[in-house]
Amino acid sequence: MQSVPILINGEFISSKSTAMIDVTNPATNEVIAQAPCVTDDELEQAVATAKEAFKTWSKVPVPERARVMMRYQQLLKEHHDEIATLLASETGKTFADAKGDVWRGIEVVEQAMNAPALMMGETVENVARNIDTYSYIQPLGVCVGITPFNFPAMIPLWMFPMAVVCGNTFVLKPSEQDPLTPMRLAELFIEAGAPKGVLNVIHGGKDQVNALLNHEDVKAVSFVGSVPVGQHIYKTATDNMKRAQCFAGAKNHSVIMPDANKAQVLSNLVGSSVGAAGQRCMAISVAVFVGDSKEWIEELRDMMAKVRPGLWDDESAGYGPLISPQAKARVLSLIEQGKKEGATCMLDGSDFTLPGYESGNWVGPTLFTDVTPEMEIYQQEIFGPVLCAICVDTLEEAIELVNNNPYGNGTSIFTANGAAARKYQSEVEVGQVGINVPIPVPLPFFSFTGWKNSFYGDLHAYGKQAIRFYTETKTITARWFEDDIPTGPNMTINLR
Ligand code: NAD
Repeated sequence: MQSVPILINGEFISSKSTAMIDVTNPATNEVIAQAPCVTDDELEQAVATAKEAFKTWSKVPVPERARVMMRYQQLLKEHHDEIATLLASETGKTFADAKGDVWRGIEVVEQAMNAPALMMGETVENVARNIDTYSYIQPLGVCVGITPFNFPAMIPLWMFPMAVVCGNTFVLKPSEQDPLTPMRLAELFIEAGAPKGVLNVIHGGKDQVNALLNHEDVKAVSFVGSVPVGQHIYKTATDNMKRAQCFAGAKNHSVIMPDANKAQVLSNLVGSSVGAAGQRCMAISVAVFVGDSKEWIEELRDMMAKVRPGLWDDESAGYGPLISPQAKARVLSLIEQGKKEGATCMLDGSDFTLPGYESGNWVGPTLFTDVTPEMEIYQQEIFGPVLCAICVDTLEEAIELVNNNPYGNGTSIFTANGAAARKYQSEVEVGQVGINVPIPVPLPFFSFTGWKNSFYGDLHAYGKQAIRFYTETKTITARWFEDDIPTGPNMTINLR
């Protein structure tokens, strides 16, 4: 069985660990590789090598660092299909969706290519007589990334290209459920010219993460994953005086006004709720219909019923299996709970299985109506192909519902009325808002800005905020004398 290598100091090596985690094909649950839980010594080497590499990498001119990203972008594009195929094999995503996962990461690398412009400081000439003040931004040192299973290309690429182009070095601990894709990304990064030790990749679970959080040489931690783990990581990292950004779970609502274009709404709701088997942090899991919407919900059910899960290379498949039997069991138990609590299950995907692949983690599209905010299916992030429909009378009621929800990752409104859209974007307490756009994931010249329980920290992923997260600001106040040398001591704090 293939043991997934680790990357330390530019070398892809086998871990000496005997503790292994199975990596499976979610369509069959066959084991395709094993990820080692790295030894303490290997983790120590990864951080030490990153610390050593920082001494030289941080001094490499910014345009040269950006050129590594240019070569990397080119390689990622050349290998796009191959990476997507590998990604599909360990996540079960359809090929088109797997390509999207890689592409949204490539876009972040393109943003990192702009580092010379993004890393500009500020200057004011003559803040006092012959005194100028200017600021530089400088890298932090060793940064760490801990990533989830659901975007094994995009999310590692949210992190290390931005950190590294700023002059930092990096230790990545990808999800143990699909580490093959991040390893391929790392191979191509080395091929693009990243010097030894600039990027290191180790594997494992909570013990390895905790060791990184407690390591005195780690300066900043980027995390994406579930709420309890995000809270733990944010608290531990900041207790240890590290900078932290932790992106966590979600419950995303889409509000549908009666004047919206029905065809557009229904097709968008289907794709954004059950696409990727609902395993997207920006998936729409609650549809909030304003006004009488019985017919719309029936048509929605009919459209959802036509979506068929399937294998990654089946072009007619709408989405693939869930990542693991545990994930499937959790989703099925929430569907059962929804029925027990009195929601109406208009479409039930619990019994779906793909003929010939009965051992895979399949769940068919599922639609509930008559959902109330007290129900578990409303309160929990289901992370499966399950959509809950709720009907309200007014836009104000819809806004109140969304704002009372503890999550704040993404939301959208469908309407033909500009005033309604403007009211929604202004009053809703969610960090990313789509107007007639179901999944409003910003392109990387903006930042990914979840709020409330969907994000712990101050500075978000990619865009200008990532540059601030991965750097310190140094402000210099300088006087160069001509013939104006002041006489006598300056006893005040004022510049003169
Ligand atoms: P997870 O929290 O189980 O795992 C994420 C990472 O944390 C993995 O690398 C894992 O090894 C590590 N980890 C797990 N348990 C740990 C523990 N007790 N201590 C320390 N580290 C631990 O998340 P997942 O199931 O891989 O991913 C799905 C979750 O990620 C969903 O909740 C989803 O909403 C969220 N997510 C959020 C965003 C966002 O931008 N807000 C994006 C993608 C995914």
